[in-house]
Amino acid sequence: MYAKVLIEYNNKNIDKTFTYKIPENLKLQKGMKVVVPFGKNSHTINGFVTDITDNYEEDYDLKEIISITDEELVLNSELLELGNYLKDITLCSTITAYQTMLPSSFKVKDKKANYNKYVNYIELVDESQAQKFLENPTKTPAQKRLVQTLLIQKRIPKTGLSLSPLRHLLEDNIVREYQEQKYRLTAAGPREMPKTLTPLQQQAVNAIKLNEEQTYLLYGVTASGKTEVYMHLIEKVLQNHQTAILLVPEITLTTQIVDRFYKRFSSQVAILHSGLSEGEKYDEYLKILRGEVSIVIGARSAIFAPLKNIGIIIIDEEHSLSYKQETTPRYHALDIAKFRSHHHHAPLLLGSATPTLESMARAEKGVYKLIPLTKRIGNATLPTVTIVDMRKELKTNKSFISRLLLSKIKTAIAKQEQIILLLNRRGHSTTISCQKCGYVYKCPHCDITLTYHKTSNVLRCHYCGYSIYKSDICPECHENSLNFLGTGTEKLEEELTRLLPNARLVRMDTDTTQNKGAHQKIIDSFANHEYDILLGTQMISKGLDFPNVTLVGVINADTTLNLPDFRSGETTFALLNQVAGRAGRSTKKGEVIIQSYNPDNYTLKCVAKNNYLANYRYEMHNRKLLSYPPYYYLTSVKVASKSYEVASQEISKVKNYLDHHLAKSTIILGPAPAANFRINNIYRFQIILKYKQEPALLKTLKELDELFTLNNQAYLEIDINPLTL
Ligand code: ADP
Ligand code: ZN
Repeated sequence: MYAKVLIEYNNKNIDKTFTYKIPENLKLQKGMKVVVPFGKNSHTINGFVTDITDNYEEDYDLKEIISITDEELVLNSELLELGNYLKDITLCSTITAYQTMLPSSFKVKDKKANYNKYVNYIELVDESQAQKFLENPTKTPAQKRLVQTLLIQKRIPKTGLSLSPLRHLLEDNIVREYQEQKYRLTAAGPREMPKTLTPLQQQAVNAIKLNEEQTYLLYGVTASGKTEVYMHLIEKVLQNHQTAILLVPEITLTTQIVDRFYKRFSSQVAILHSGLSEGEKYDEYLKILRGEVSIVIGARSAIFAPLKNIGIIIIDEEHSLSYKQETTPRYHALDIAKFRSHHHHAPLLLGSATPTLESMARAEKGVYKLIPLTKRIGNATLPTVTIVDMRKELKTNKSFISRLLLSKIKTAIAKQEQIILLLNRRGHSTTISCQKCGYVYKCPHCDITLTYHKTSNVLRCHYCGYSIYKSDICPECHENSLNFLGTGTEKLEEELTRLLPNARLVRMDTDTTQNKGAHQKIIDSFANHEYDILLGTQMISKGLDFPNVTLVGVINADTTLNLPDFRSGETTFALLNQVAGRAGRSTKKGEVIIQSYNPDNYTLKCVAKNNYLANYRYEMHNRKLLSYPPYYYLTSVKVASKSYEVASQEISKVKNYLDHHLAKSTIILGPAPAANFRINNIYRFQIILKYKQEPALLKTLKELDELFTLNNQAYLEIDINPLTL
């Protein structure tokens, strides 16, 4: 017997399988991970078995497979196929595709790290023998006590038992020791009964047909009870002995949703996200492989979970940019979800209060089935939104916190209610410049300004991490005249402390949530009302459900609005609507104050009226005028190099190639410097393709990519359907 093995070697030049002999005693299956000898020196390397055959034509000596890496790890035929699909749609290598589908704990290179965790138990060998033992006067009381306990409890964990009596009992063969695998994460707490659905929620549940491939768009305002709808659907699926995947944005996972699912479904749930330790990820994955769980909740890559018999796939907050991977392979979880929904004849449900333009456009065309959920649960109403014109405010107020917002904060605190404040920039000051000579601190490796972090007293680059200590003297003209402009979350915290010395504040951003569990701690303590104000970056906008929050403030709505990106109107609406949705989720009325220097901006007006559809129409109109998605598809092709000259020469060749191989109707923009032109001393030039149909696209890009595998001075970065440019 022979096996075709795809080796774990990240070099596109050898993206093909090699044939090995299967030793007689090896119980090998297709999809298993194996260790094989490779190359002239036959050093060992990992690989995946993609096929098993009876015979092999060529007659030179084949090497033998050495061993199976992990008996339990088998990519089934669906996943093997899915890996190929992933390769085709993102142009990555086959091995990269398979590696992407597995958690990193399974990717261990040469030696096998053991993540299995065991608990040692002791139990009686034989109960009647134990009874006799108790009657034997020569045995010590300590030994007898242990035997008595075992007669009642049947088994005891070994840890904590005193050694001497145990040793004797083991020697006399009265008790024996055994191991049991222990999973690191387990559902805790009491189970909760399902809530009775409102008629609208019930309609939503009824609208979804199981065992049929169809994509649905659940367009439900914030706090309309979407999560409850998901849980009911999953309940139905489990009753059919099927399984379910629920994707949520990374950030939501460390918080409340897992709790809700544990309470409802207990140990039937596995969780996959990057906040878990390697061992935890390993355990969760094992539970899925072993078929011990039926529900997987996770971030983007959980879409690859090896569940069998999938009955529904749900993507919550489907507009979240986190569903697109920004590194190779640049895939969108939605495409993978569609593949699997097709494979399993299962519905795919996309949920959002602010669907992407693509999804809403497909729903309007009838490609997706639209399910509206337009009311908040119970008597909760959507919050009222007021926009404050900061241009006027600054004429009479020195603070960047407007008087209106400040007075509302004071009122809320006086009523023992809580407040969330959003400022989508971390650090203290976002630009440091000299008032005398105009010098601006920039990263020497990247093309961007440094941010001042007061806590650590450094200026830091948010792209590459470069940092220097703060000084008061301009490095250019040596005057003591540095100006700290632009407001980040640290400065906001400082200003709030100045204005409201008695308020209890907690800040949540990348800087305060570095440690494992830090996130959860902040959220739990805020939920316990240990703080009055939660302030932070967009981290605080998603998925949180605090009934006592009645006021939400947005310090500077312009930070995302002014980004030079064709989606900025769409993403700003989503962000502001989401954060506004944190207010008044329960019986108390909510209020939102948005501060802006562009109060007449149309997107902000739509936010103020909570009018998603108006913003949708407006954005669709713009996209049509400018030939952007969903009217056109986009592909971004970048050439990156340490050398400016090489990058710029190579991108011209790329342009030439594309001109000759793509359809006349395809719009080819550029080459131009990419948005992040220089990061970490790598230069990037970019070409953007726009097309409605481009049959030659994948073939042409693949050829181009192959040309570049031989180039060691520059490389190609291809992003098909990029979310940002
Ligand atoms: P969404 O996911 O749309 O933001 P949630 O599912 O979080 O909304 O629901 C908002 C709040 O309403 C939650 O506290 C939830 O427990 C509660 N809720 C949802 N559905 C019901 C229901 N049918 N009956 C009572 N409370 C509900
Ligand atoms: Zn940098």
